[in-house]
Amino acid sequence: MEKKNIDWSNLGFGYVKTDKRFVSNYKDGAWDEGVLTDDDQVVINECAGVLQYAQTVFEGMKAYTTEQGDIVIFRPDLNAARMADSARRLEMPVYPEEKFVEAVEAVVRANAAWVPPYGSGATLYLRPYMFGSNAVIGVKPADEYQFRVFATPVGPYFKGGVKPLTIRVSDFDRAAPHGTGHIKAGLNYAMSLHAIVTAHAEGYDENMYLDAATRTKVEETGGANFLFVTKDGTVVTPKSDSILPSITRRSLMYVAQEYLGLKAEEREVYFDEVKDFAECGLCGTAAVISPVGKVVDHGHEICFPSGMEKMGPITQKLYDTLTGIQMGHIEAPKGWLHVVK
Ligand SMILES: *Cc1c(COP(=O)(O)O)cnc(C)c1O
Repeated sequence: MEKKNIDWSNLGFGYVKTDKRFVSNYKDGAWDEGVLTDDDQVVINECAGVLQYAQTVFEGMKAYTTEQGDIVIFRPDLNAARMADSARRLEMPVYPEEKFVEAVEAVVRANAAWVPPYGSGATLYLRPYMFGSNAVIGVKPADEYQFRVFATPVGPYFKGGVKPLTIRVSDFDRAAPHGTGHIKAGLNYAMSLHAIVTAHAEGYDENMYLDAATRTKVEETGGANFLFVTKDGTVVTPKSDSILPSITRRSLMYVAQEYLGLKAEEREVYFDEVKDFAECGLCGTAAVISPVGKVVDHGHEICFPSGMEKMGPITQKLYDTLTGIQMGHIEAPKGWLHVVK
């Protein structure tokens, strides 16, 4: 199989139309078999549930080439389970978890020429999603749904080197207690756009959201979970029912304990404690970990000792170990790398 003629290392993070995508429709209470198609257009009724009441959920994951030359997907079973949880919360039918993994795998196989070569730093980003597709005008769940998976190649996240982020404490809330913060729904992103656009306009890279009820505890950013490192080397991540359970963060907590022998705690983190941490990072599929150098709370700056030039030492170890596992340099825990045959 011949790879596409792409300057992989200089790709950005944008949509590129690839050869094939997977589509399955839900109608009369059942999902159809689904097909791979060339057609990148979605045609739905003007009154579709997704267009009126935002009934849509999604996932984000990656396929890439390991040092051994295998094309692998990282822990797709967890994306399948999380999408099932998201669907249930929005009264959507679950796309069966094994079929989710098969669909993602089929899309990767059909677009193998788009999977960046080992060493390029680029990956094939995969976007499974589903939405209410039939006309809904009275407020209720749709009766018909479409599940799709497309793939798009994306470049290395840290092009031109790692640059720690400056983030602000947001005056907006991301998620209410007992709301939808813990599911991957488009609606959580729609309402975060104003917060991120204004943050960027003021020179910040991201927003730190606090818990909506008391505004005393750290939750997450718009699209990544926090990891902190204490001065004595314990890895800490905030615990809350309104945080999206990041697969990267769960993997890093495991790596901290099982590979690096560090203490790792998931617990409530008060904003007052942030000034005492030695390191801070944001975790998600896109970057694995982006280091945070500075948090600004209404003009009051908290600067982490790790500084604005590089990752903190423990953040770096976590990053190197997890990316080493992903690339096949370090033995992976059983089931983490799903080989596409
Ligand atoms: C997707 C997402 C993350 C990161 O999750 P990963 O599974 O690690 O990619 C974190 N926070 C929010 C709000 C998200 O939507």
